[in-house]
Amino acid sequence: MTVNLLDYDREGLTRFLTEMGEKPFRAKQLLKWMHQSGSADIAAMSDLSKALRDKLAKHAGIELPRVLRDHVAADGTRKWLLSVGDNNGIESVFIPEADRGTLCVSSQVGCALACAFCSTGKQGFNRNLTVAEIIGQLWLANRMLGSDDDAHALHALPPGQDRQPERRVTNVVMMGMGEPLANFENVVTALHLMLDDHAYGLSRRRVTVSTSGLIPALDRLRERCPVALAVSLHAPNDALRDELVPINKKYPLSELMAACRRYLPAAPRDFITFEYVMLDGVNDSIAHAAELVALVRDVPCKFNLIPFNPFPNSGFKRSSAETIRIFRDVLMQAGLVTTVRRTRGDDIAAACGQLAGQVRDKTRRTMSGCADRNVMEATR
Ligand code: SAH
Ligand code: SF4
Repeated sequence: MTVNLLDYDREGLTRFLTEMGEKPFRAKQLLKWMHQSGSADIAAMSDLSKALRDKLAKHAGIELPRVLRDHVAADGTRKWLLSVGDNNGIESVFIPEADRGTLCVSSQVGCALACAFCSTGKQGFNRNLTVAEIIGQLWLANRMLGSDDDAHALHALPPGQDRQPERRVTNVVMMGMGEPLANFENVVTALHLMLDDHAYGLSRRRVTVSTSGLIPALDRLRERCPVALAVSLHAPNDALRDELVPINKKYPLSELMAACRRYLPAAPRDFITFEYVMLDGVNDSIAHAAELVALVRDVPCKFNLIPFNPFPNSGFKRSSAETIRIFRDVLMQAGLVTTVRRTRGDDIAAACGQLAGQVRDKTRRTMSGCADRNVMEATR
């Protein structure tokens, strides 16, 4: 196969087809077949002429990541471990709630930014995902959530809810493995597909990019494809953030706050979501909260406090529920809307920031021959 058709958004597909001497509108038909009907079979695309189908089959194909594992947690959270070849595994997680179904999508195998508390970061960077591998996560989730297999997840009602949670993907968050803005072009092309009415047709408000703060790429995202934005803050001052989120040494907080302010006029929502991982005794004091309030004074924002997800040898502990409550109260009293992220899918290690625990690390990769066996071993 020379070309994977899942690598193209509408513009790319139009170019590809035009170069083959085809009419541009064929791109819409192809997008609908692939992304709305969920077809991976060119031969079955019945409103394309036989000649075109033959030509496409000769020059292109539709190739998806392979599902290695598929798990449903007691709370209905569903996690897929996907093989993207060469002994590389990535994950996506579906989180059902009453009013929405959120898919957490990965953008890279590993991550180069090495945040101190992140298991993806601890594993180093391996490679960027292709567009097909990013959008393939959504393709597969839609397909598998619609299947009979998903029926067994339906009995799981989250505590306090009396109606069945959403079992379709209505929202996407780029909060899986990797730093989306470090894989800029592929992520933007995948975002185009998420938003395209001929593909997934999600509104910009329902697609969120989460970044640790790559400022030049943040400015480009604003120009190219402004979707909802989450920024991983995790510390209220440069000294602490330099340690926790090392990219801060290059793009310090004052510049990050300015970039957030620049982003807002283009954003589909009138606030930025700041993520803040709660690390016991590290960034969770009342003084830290007060400092945070001062830091974000000029940025319309909401806070999402994430209880730290522990992993072996992380060197960090999760703040206590009481500490998190007090921290939240300080922010709330200053008028900042603050939610505490509920840990989901704990029994399948599906919580965000815990995903890379399932992928073998770089040192092991060089030692090993069989990829999938390694990935599988790591998930036991
Ligand atoms: N690279 C991007 C998106 C992926 S991480 C970013 O950093 O924003 C998604 C979120 O999970 C980020 O806020 C990240 O800081 C957080 N996270 C990483 N490791 C975590 C852990 N062990 N416990 C809780 N949250 C974690
Ligand atoms: Fe990379 Fe995000 Fe993990 Fe930092 S928190 S290492 S940016 S994935």
